[in-house]
Amino acid sequence: METSDVRDQRRTQETSLEARSPFDLRVNLGRGVPDSDVRTALASGDMGFLHSFTTGSAVDGPGIRIVAWTAGCSWRCLYCHNPDTWNMSNGIPVTLARATEELRKYHRGLKVMSGGFTLSGGEPLMQYRFAIKLLAAAKALGIHTALDTTGYLGARLTDADLECIDLVLLDIKAWDPDGHRHLTGMEVGPVLDFARRLAARGRSVWLRFVLVPGLTDNPQEIAQIASFAAGLGNVARVDVLPFHQMGRFKWQQLGLNYTLDQTVTPPAEAVERVCAQFRAVGLNVY
Ligand code: SF4
Repeated sequence: METSDVRDQRRTQETSLEARSPFDLRVNLGRGVPDSDVRTALASGDMGFLHSFTTGSAVDGPGIRIVAWTAGCSWRCLYCHNPDTWNMSNGIPVTLARATEELRKYHRGLKVMSGGFTLSGGEPLMQYRFAIKLLAAAKALGIHTALDTTGYLGARLTDADLECIDLVLLDIKAWDPDGHRHLTGMEVGPVLDFARRLAARGRSVWLRFVLVPGLTDNPQEIAQIASFAAGLGNVARVDVLPFHQMGRFKWQQLGLNYTLDQTVTPPAEAVERVCAQFRAVGLNVY
């Protein structure tokens, strides 16, 4: 008779890597993988834990992109729209070879569409060895690479690792240390340190800022983020992303305490005001 562990592993192998969107709720796909295998995978980088692959993204870097969404994040952003990616065991265990093969399928098309590969999450640097091996594999296929990260674990990467990343999509979620801690559960310092290091190494950055009414809409704070970003000299673009409620469903399904039920999507004028603050310091804003 099939044991539950074997059943879990079979289910994992049968689960398609491709999701309709990152908003697909995925849980427990890594259940049944022994802890020792997880530790070995993280140490070697030869296996990672992925929520899914999605194709055809036009918002996660230049051109049309294939995006791999990793599982595992130690942050607890109040507005997270993918809380099923917090837990690494919700991800599908995927060998580096299988993930690379997935990229190989698309590499010609990505070049034609001036697109590339984006590694997002969760927080990809929770599995930084796998992340770098996969980004290096993409580069070896001639694919433009982007890493979507909080930057919090950026100190784990060597300067050589950074060379595998053509573009960093870096979130600065709040400026004030207390506000940042309240919003994400984590310190802002390491994020800013990584931003400075990317600037020193001349790595291109797209900055992302999520505008949440009542949480991140203080004009003085936004001005400080804008001034910091402009001073770096490597921020090619800023995306101001209006808060939305698309993640609420997952919080409810996972039995998590969602505190932004009453928070509204900011009106277009509010988003434009924030865009204007970034433009005022000379940054390109979308
Ligand atoms: S860093 Fe991203 S994945 Fe992690 S909690 Fe925040 S929004 Fe969610």
